[in-house]
Amino acid sequence: MKVKIRKGDTVEIISGRLEDKGKRGEVIKVLPEVHRVVVQGVNMRKKHQSQVQTQGRTMTPGIIEFEGPLDISNVMLVCPKCNEPTRVSVQREEDGEPVRVCKHCQALID
Ligand SMILES: [Zn+2]
Repeated sequence: MKVKIRKGDTVEIISGRLEDKGKRGEVIKVLPEVHRVVVQGVNMRKKHQSQVQTQGRTMTPGIIEFEGPLDISNVMLVCPKCNEPTRVSVQREEDGEPVRVCKHCQALID
């Protein structure tokens, strides 16, 4: 299956953790080899950082929050035209460039 979601797209979370369901956010990273995406502000994880010494500098311990990757099947692209989460089909332009088309309103997404 080809990944149709790109960095910078807005997606809606359609399944997964309850508190994230229905959230929208911008895709900040796509990991096609593992079929995952990282969405800004979604699937927040906390990492406890203990005090570390690096090159004579002491880093302050604390809790770092970061976005965990989500399975691509848990997100759906939000069409910038109709503002609906939608499936997309990929068509080829005459010059051979693939373009994504919203199945909802038929708008070109690229
Ligand atoms: Zn649309």
